[in-house]
Amino acid sequence: MTDLKDAIHAPDATWQDDVRRGVRHVRDLDRLPLSPAERQAAQEAASRHKVRVPKTYLDLIDWDDPADPIRAQVIPSPGELEEADGELGDPIADHDFSPVPRLTHRHADRVLLFPTYQCAVYCRFCFRKESLTSIGRGYTREAQEPALAYIADHPEIREVILTGGDPLSLPDSALAEIRASIEAIAHVRLLRIHTRVPVALPSRITSGLVAALQGRLMVTVVTHFNHAREITAAAETACRTMRQAGFVLLNQSVLLKGINDSVEALEELCRELMYRLGVKPYYLHHGDLARGMAHRRTTIAEGQALVEALRARLSGICNPVYVLDLPEGGGKVPLGPCPIEGRDGETWRIRGLDGEVRTYREIVKA
Ligand SMILES: *Cc1c(COP(=O)(O)O)cnc(C)c1O
Ligand code: SF4
Repeated sequence: MTDLKDAIHAPDATWQDDVRRGVRHVRDLDRLPLSPAERQAAQEAASRHKVRVPKTYLDLIDWDDPADPIRAQVIPSPGELEEADGELGDPIADHDFSPVPRLTHRHADRVLLFPTYQCAVYCRFCFRKESLTSIGRGYTREAQEPALAYIADHPEIREVILTGGDPLSLPDSALAEIRASIEAIAHVRLLRIHTRVPVALPSRITSGLVAALQGRLMVTVVTHFNHAREITAAAETACRTMRQAGFVLLNQSVLLKGINDSVEALEELCRELMYRLGVKPYYLHHGDLARGMAHRRTTIAEGQALVEALRARLSGICNPVYVLDLPEGGGKVPLGPCPIEGRDGETWRIRGLDGEVRTYREIVKA
């Protein structure tokens, strides 16, 4: 078994059914109540980025609302076909920092490992969509070997981040194999998994999956919820299973115009992530320059105003860091509004949460 497509033939779980009964091919969109514009866009958009939506995620869509935030994340739209000058196929330069296939090494202590380029759901705004479409390969043990050898050869690497593709779209046996290979490299301390499965296919988070990941390494799962409507009873069960296994849970969201670009939407999302799921909001990503995404990007000033309002409404643990992953591999830099108004020698003028500027004089022992 190398992929969901094969794994769904296993007889014994409900999640296979969620995949089988969902949208698996662009022709499955024919049975959905799409608008004429969506229907027209679907075929062409799908040739650039695959279509796949598990049944449970599809069921969250309110078809009476043309701007439904769930629908907008997974149903191809005409906007995707409009590419703007300056947009990029590889917006954060994963390929330029890839010394061996299936691995990106940009920061000394951590690497991205791509065990598969397939996902349980294909998000229309995905910044890796061109890699997923052009590479489009699943997991084999042999394909990981150069990446694993590279990690073993670089003792500065402490953290291995499984991404893709969606690593949790792999069968338990593949996950156990990957985990064991990484665990065997003594200098690696932490296994991190970036996944949208707890959002789009929460039934996949089974005791077998959790057991496949447990071992010597600290495990951190970074989920990808973008809207409070994705926080369902099934997602709650999935997150509880992972927390009880001792995994640290974080979330990254993408700021998406028309989907979650309001203070109310972000506030509810971040609050429910922390208080209902026990998932700490980690990053809020400003839109990168993936092609065909101009209709989903906000301006940076809009993002800054949103996070400033969030800071006033939510506790520290509920607030994500607003970041931009810079082109050319510049990395993730914080974009939150800067509270420093100026300084005069040791005296700094800093804007407080109430908007008032106060001074702070540095007093340090010489
Ligand atoms: C995002 C990213 C990471 C992880 O960065 P953190 O700030 O630790 O979450 C690591 N490597 C690459 C290449 C990345 O793009
Ligand atoms: S699950 Fe992640 S990698 Fe896959 S399409 Fe969605 S955003 Fe992209």
